[in-house]
Amino acid sequence: MGRSGTNQGGNVAGGHQLRLFNSLGRRMEDFTPSGEVTGMYSCGPTVYAFPHLGNMRPYVFADTLRRAFRWRDIPVRHVVNITDVGHAVADTDTGEDKLEVAAARERRSVQDIADFYTDVFFVDTAALNVLPADEYPRASAYVPQMIEFAAELEAKGWTYRLPSGLYFDTAKDPGYGELAQMDAEGQLEAARVEQVEGRRRKTDFALWRAEDPDQKRVMRWDSPWGWGAPGWHLECSVMSITLLGSHFDIHTGGVDHRELHHVNEIAQSQAYLGDGQPWVRYWLHNEYLQLGGEKMAKSAGGAPRLADLTEAGYHPLAYRLFLLGGHYRSQLGFTPEAVAAAQATLRRLVTRVQPLRPLPPIETLAAAQANVAGDPVAARLLDTIDAAIAADLSTPRVLATLQDALRDPDITPDGLRTVVAAADALLGLGLATLDPADLDHRRAVTELSAQERHAIEQLVADRTQARKERDWPRADQIRAELDELGVQLTDTPSGPSWQLR
Ligand code: AMP
Ligand code: ZN
Repeated sequence: MGRSGTNQGGNVAGGHQLRLFNSLGRRMEDFTPSGEVTGMYSCGPTVYAFPHLGNMRPYVFADTLRRAFRWRDIPVRHVVNITDVGHAVADTDTGEDKLEVAAARERRSVQDIADFYTDVFFVDTAALNVLPADEYPRASAYVPQMIEFAAELEAKGWTYRLPSGLYFDTAKDPGYGELAQMDAEGQLEAARVEQVEGRRRKTDFALWRAEDPDQKRVMRWDSPWGWGAPGWHLECSVMSITLLGSHFDIHTGGVDHRELHHVNEIAQSQAYLGDGQPWVRYWLHNEYLQLGGEKMAKSAGGAPRLADLTEAGYHPLAYRLFLLGGHYRSQLGFTPEAVAAAQATLRRLVTRVQPLRPLPPIETLAAAQANVAGDPVAARLLDTIDAAIAADLSTPRVLATLQDALRDPDITPDGLRTVVAAADALLGLGLATLDPADLDHRRAVTELSAQERHAIEQLVADRTQARKERDWPRADQIRAELDELGVQLTDTPSGPSWQLR
């Protein structure tokens, strides 16, 4: 691993060269900021339903990158958009908007739906210790700018009109699809693009979705192409360029955006800017959180949310630790057992760290290094942590080094305090403040509502009855159900007794 003796490019003296995996080219690259402030844009939530645990992974990942930049004294301006208009059901160019369908389903206004789920997103990301972004632009507030952007593309000859809207002509862009690294067929297969009448190429995408005259939209704007709504990809180009400038360094999102959404963002942005420069330098994508061997998805239903975990007695930061225990570019299988194991690990960490408190307020490598001048063991561990985070954000290795430090017999107490504070500045696990009692998984039975209690007692009685009737499969099935509810059952001579795990 290379080292740099200067502070140029955020490479603190003695620090390891920061390397990131760039999806553009699919290779590890040295990261050097191009300006004083590194512009970073993360594709944000579509606020039409509760975010599930998988939806949180991109923000914990982007947060890890933010923390790595802070560690290297690289100033960042971070923008996360809120998609409250334009995202059609099934990610297609036609059809209903996700927000409008949700509003009809819940009999609330589109505005209510957007506000409600935006708040849920903020509550969940805050509970996960995700550093707030500098800006959270809402797509609906940028529609005039999106219309101007599309009009400019039209004026420059990049588009054609159809009754269904204004389309970007991908045949005019020889570099189209470079990020996806597959042929157009594969790209569209991956992204399940539907047929649109009159579209010249399957890859062409809507910049403006004209309203069907028989089906007035709820969210609608007048435009040179008639009443309608912007295409889904437009908002990210327009809001990022408006808030971060024409070119910026980092764009992040889930890996499902790599083949289509980000490909189209690049095509329209580079056509709009027309300066022959790549629009964004580094494209970073997190892999999926899986459930039962498949991508956890909103549409599949039943995908667990953060609130489901907390209701089951898990701390949100146990989920964060679970995520960071895998590399962001690896698929990760969700199971309650894995989160339980993460919670047990976090509890052990916090119990071990508690007597060391207060921890020094360390956020950067330079500050940490200055603190361990007289402790070679701590200095070596810090170097290992730095090497790990610099190697494409290897949080599993940062965690392992933290655990090594806590076991090291030769480290000084002050050295250990610094190493723990440094690791936590990168991991964001709340090691300076969490109380081990917050991580007790056992819920008090008194916390149950009367209804929950009644439901559990009913199941216990049903199982006793099934056992009396020697219906073992049913008894086992009920036991499994109780287990899922976090109920631990013990058969005693005087009958079954239960408690919460
Ligand atoms: P959405 O709110 O549906 O637009 O998604 C928000 C973010 O979650 C996007 O960056 C998606 O790529 C990402 N995402 C969706 N499902 C998963 C998953 N199962 N694992 C990881 N990221 C996901
Ligand atoms: Zn986007």
